[in-house]
Amino acid sequence: MGAQILDGKALARQIQAEIAEEVAEFIENNGIVPCLAAVLVGENPASEVYVRNKRQACERLGIEGQLHRLPADAPLDDLLALIYKLNKAIEVHGILVQLPLPPQMDTSRVLQSVHPAKDVDAFHPENVGRLVQGQPRFLPCTPHGIQQLLVRNQVPIAGRHVVVVGRSDIVGKPLANMLVQRAPGADATVTICHSRTSDLAFYTRQADILVAAVGRPRLIMADMVKPGAVVIDVGMNRTDAGLVGDVDFDGVSEVAGMITPVPGGVGPLTVTMLLHNTLSAARQQLTQ
Ligand code: NDP
Repeated sequence: MGAQILDGKALARQIQAEIAEEVAEFIENNGIVPCLAAVLVGENPASEVYVRNKRQACERLGIEGQLHRLPADAPLDDLLALIYKLNKAIEVHGILVQLPLPPQMDTSRVLQSVHPAKDVDAFHPENVGRLVQGQPRFLPCTPHGIQQLLVRNQVPIAGRHVVVVGRSDIVGKPLANMLVQRAPGADATVTICHSRTSDLAFYTRQADILVAAVGRPRLIMADMVKPGAVVIDVGMNRTDAGLVGDVDFDGVSEVAGMITPVPGGVGPLTVTMLLHNTLSAARQQLTQ
């Protein structure tokens, strides 16, 4: 195995320690405890785990973590009424609606109902628009975690060719939007690939930085990677062999220069950036 492992778990610990210090200072200076309200509809086991992890991380860092539950068959209006209440609550700085929502819920309507100033996932159209225009209020959590992983491991981004496989609104598109900005930690040339891309390997082999955000085990094989490339595996696929990414780790780590493991790569940074955004929301609301 040749590639250097990009250890997301260790980096997440380091960034969380930095945030914890900033939270303590914020509380001392303002007498206000930053607060994240999580909304969970139904009892999806994976969502239960994500929300529990987020609340535990809040607690470790001195952030208050609220949990608001609704039953799986709750009508959309009940969820909208809860979000409306949280939008108005001055002690709540960030609101997180755990996805996926049950089928009777119109997800985009729900995400649009979160006040943009409390939208710590950065899913609201206003925040997406601001990101595209290079004036973000919050950076979306997984893309921000990936950017931090690159920057803090001294991976040059400016002028490099980043190929992002996956065009979701949560990972692929916002990551591409961030890395193409004229800004520190960006200035990349970005290509986005998806399920309709013909000859995916033609593009992935050109990548200096290859990001796989698809949700298909072993989609990215060694012969699709340029020697020495930095490979970021966002995929989280539950298989009989346990949690695996989108990248054939054993094969690709013989070719790549750097690679993230799954688990222990991008995942821990996503929750870390959510906490960063919660503190940032609390700071911004002081001056509003
Ligand atoms: P989506 O299902 O929303 O998007 C998947 C994307 O992959 C789509 O754009 C799809 O194309 C594309 N795709 C599917 N098949 C192929 C293929 N054969 N070749 C090229 N592209 C393909 O997923 P998400 O972005 O939400 O998540 C992606 C993965 O990342 C999942 O495994 C998820 O669990 C994980 N994840 C991990 C996080 C973390 O913190 N580590 C956070 C968020 C997600 P098309 O648009 O044409 O359908």
